[in-house]
Amino acid sequence: PQPSPFLDPGPVSAPNSLGILQLRRDHLIPAILSTSADSDYAEGKVENTRFGSFPHSTLLHKPWGTQILASVIDTGSRSSRSKKRKREAGDVGDEEAGTPKEEGSGGLVRAATASSGFAHLIPPSPETWTLCLPHRTQVVYTPDYSYILQRLRIRPGDHIIEAGAGSGSFTHAAVRAVFNGYVEQEETSDGNAAGAAARKRRKRNGHVYSFEFHAPRAKQLRDELEEHGLSQLVTVTNRDVYQDGFCLENATEPDADAIFLDLPAPWLALKHLTRSPPSQAVIKSVASESNTPAADTTEQHNPQKPFRSPLNPQKAVRICTFSPCIEQVTKTVSAMRALGWLEIGMAEIQAKRLEVRRERVGLQEEGLRGANPNAATVQEAVQRLRDVEGRAKIFHGLQKEKQEEVMRRAEAKKRGEKVPSLKEEREAAKTKTKVSDIERVPPSKHDRLERAKRELEKRELFKEGRLVHRTEPELKTHTSYLVFAVLPREWSREDEAKAAARTWT
Ligand code: SAM
Repeated sequence: PQPSPFLDPGPVSAPNSLGILQLRRDHLIPAILSTSADSDYAEGKVENTRFGSFPHSTLLHKPWGTQILASVIDTGSRSSRSKKRKREAGDVGDEEAGTPKEEGSGGLVRAATASSGFAHLIPPSPETWTLCLPHRTQVVYTPDYSYILQRLRIRPGDHIIEAGAGSGSFTHAAVRAVFNGYVEQEETSDGNAAGAAARKRRKRNGHVYSFEFHAPRAKQLRDELEEHGLSQLVTVTNRDVYQDGFCLENATEPDADAIFLDLPAPWLALKHLTRSPPSQAVIKSVASESNTPAADTTEQHNPQKPFRSPLNPQKAVRICTFSPCIEQVTKTVSAMRALGWLEIGMAEIQAKRLEVRRERVGLQEEGLRGANPNAATVQEAVQRLRDVEGRAKIFHGLQKEKQEEVMRRAEAKKRGEKVPSLKEEREAAKTKTKVSDIERVPPSKHDRLERAKRELEKRELFKEGRLVHRTEPELKTHTSYLVFAVLPREWSREDEAKAAARTWT
């Protein structure tokens, strides 16, 4: 299969693949890069941004990270479409006069002035996608999902259940975490890939099983995953998981190692995440603890329908639920306790971005800089004045010396004394000024900087300034409470016997 740009973007941007235009640090625009001429513009597909227009022809086959100059697209009185038709008809005299044409970009007129905008073309990743995906719902942001995936101990080859899928922010991060290459399904010696083979835990593809009960959202996510080359690694199911749980047609799926629930009432889904059918006593306990009518909470197990667990029977399964209110947390925790989950705990991520830089010692203590870190302190300003005054004094002193010298020469001439020639005088003055002036004139700001630079090169950087940091308040994150828990694997007499028989080397 074609590798996904999220998993292997390659060195350059490619047609029909996702690229991201980064206009500012947190301002990104996603685009499926296209060579198609089917567009309102003569130039083909164009991304119009507040920093200018970027025809896809200028974005294709570029090394990731390239800075792209905005192009001037003529959207004037004549429509670009009519210009396109004209061009196709051979009448190409409609370019702006005197503006340079760009070779190989279909006769585009490039903005070459200093005020023209630019953007960087960067490869897609779960992080960049989270910052620019089309929002259908609240999404899980990078600080949360990176912590969640780490606490769930997700590794390549794992299977994750995710509900609800929402806008697919978590989905993209999860799929990268489980990706272990495109592994061919191995078969057992009896030719049956299902059942026993799956239980033997041969190398399997990492996979995300995503559930969403809102049909248009489920469809949109499926389409996006197809566009992003990830559809092989994610199964999106349109389903109400409170009602119908997480098992799929294929008996070996989802076989989950970990679960992430971003649902309004996660406790209502927990009854489907057990290893065996919950007893009546447990059903009652969950209903009373979560203040939910029993019928809603734990659909009673139908003995006619054989019970199937969506969980990997060979592993302790980890879960995380994501809820904005503490009331949701307490209900979830009660249901988890009743259903045998262990190591239940809650965490909240409060991410802050720190701007870290080095500052010269002394300036900060004075507290004189105010809001502008580039403003001079009083001490610096006084030093500069002193320098200027000192230099002026010396300059005027030298001028005076020169005048006196001229007078002295004139008087000597009057008296008929031998006066050295002007050339001799200048040579003598030069040597005199060179030695004495350099000693007397304090170094200019430029000289001081140069000297400081030379000193810095000799010394270690950390001694030259203290590291300071400031928090940046605008970090995008949706704070919620994260409840984590573990469901141990079941341990049978058979397992015990096997473990006892195992020889440890
Ligand atoms: N985690 C997602 C992301 O990062 O983009 C956002 C999830 S959004 C906050 C919650 C989603 O759960 C919504 O799309 C909603 O339709 C879905 N949902 C709510 N109840 C559900 C249920 N019973 N079964 C399946 N999905 C459900």
